[in-house]
Amino acid sequence: MVVPKKQNIWELLKKELLENEEKRWYFSERFQKIEDKVKKSLKDQKTDEALNDITVWALVLWSSDVHYETFDDYVVVRFRIDWVLVDIFRLTLKEYKPILERLKYASSLKLNITTIPQDWKYSLIIENRNIDVRVSTLPVWGFENVVCRILDNTNAIIDFEKLWFFWTTKRMVEKAITRKNGMILVTWPTWSGKTTTLYTILARLNTREKKVITLEDPIEYNMDWITQAEVNDKNGFTFTNGLRAILRQDPDIIMVWEIRDAETLETATNASLTWHLVLSTLHTKSAAETLDRIINMGMKPYVLASALDTIIAQRLVRKICPYCKREKERTALEISIISNMMKEIWMSSLSSENIKLYEWEWCEKCNHSWYSGRIWIYEIISLNEDLRNLIRWWATTEEIIRKARDWDLITMKEDWILKAIKWYTTIEEILRVT
Ligand SMILES: [Zn+2]
Repeated sequence: MVVPKKQNIWELLKKELLENEEKRWYFSERFQKIEDKVKKSLKDQKTDEALNDITVWALVLWSSDVHYETFDDYVVVRFRIDWVLVDIFRLTLKEYKPILERLKYASSLKLNITTIPQDWKYSLIIENRNIDVRVSTLPVWGFENVVCRILDNTNAIIDFEKLWFFWTTKRMVEKAITRKNGMILVTWPTWSGKTTTLYTILARLNTREKKVITLEDPIEYNMDWITQAEVNDKNGFTFTNGLRAILRQDPDIIMVWEIRDAETLETATNASLTWHLVLSTLHTKSAAETLDRIINMGMKPYVLASALDTIIAQRLVRKICPYCKREKERTALEISIISNMMKEIWMSSLSSENIKLYEWEWCEKCNHSWYSGRIWIYEIISLNEDLRNLIRWWATTEEIIRKARDWDLITMKEDWILKAIKWYTTIEEILRVT
């Protein structure tokens, strides 16, 4: 058996697992039920009921968006379940028209405007849950496509214990958020679930002895006892001047939705250096990329070393469906690749036998997708004096990360392998998103 060279391990593993993977399609007998119900309501001219059915089913199937795509003489209704788009059923243009009009009316869009894109939102209550739907239209072929983003506030804040931290990572985050000052950055590629992480941390910090102010774009969830402000670029209420205004409001904890430019970064840094705990996000993929980005935005390393406390890089991956997973026989190549991978992430003490690969059975519970729900994987770097000194002396990002590993840096790869060992998710799933 030829043991692959280190740099080829990931590529080989991807090839071996993903290319040989049996193609799966989300499918469920429930899709037919949705179609029948919606079409019956439309026939009875109950558009509200049809729309309600679609939204309820989208929620039941854990969808984040409903897409209406028009073609020559039909419209496809698709749900984004986890992050996979799934065709649910088709409508005729005649059936679609009242739905389109109803959606535009509900979200205060102009009915007579059909040739330029529009977007706004509406709220509805389903089974005591407050659901916001953000509607956006796009003119196509003389008709309009619609995408509805469903914002289900019941998941905006979850129990801190359910954020999928291991005890080591949890300890790092808890230490960071109980400090009186410093900057905590949550970094996020798309679909990382940063909203839930930030709101959950804020909920944990929210006590009557502290003043918590947020600057958001947009406010996705209203929290009790927290002052939430929404930026509005058109009116000149930007992140930068908003942040300065917040600082005059005597806060203890500040959450700035996103650091987009050097000016916001500088103001946020100054806030953290003057005894405020600052939480924010940056659009980067890893802890290393975050350090590089901050320096590239013009921040002096000695300022960064004093201001920054913790970087939490996160990804969302799909969770294994508990009803249909079965352990699979591994090939010799798979075993060899996995044990090499374990050595690479310094976990050779863990036997590669611990890594299981799965096969699935026919399962209606997860729409035959083999996944159900999502979990987070993390990379967390918490700065200590050693690391701060390295940053002050212009060390390269590689040197900083290497040193951090001597302490308690948990890399994304380590976190996900541990989660794969624990049967929370699969290796295939993580390869897909890393
Ligand atoms: Zn299943």
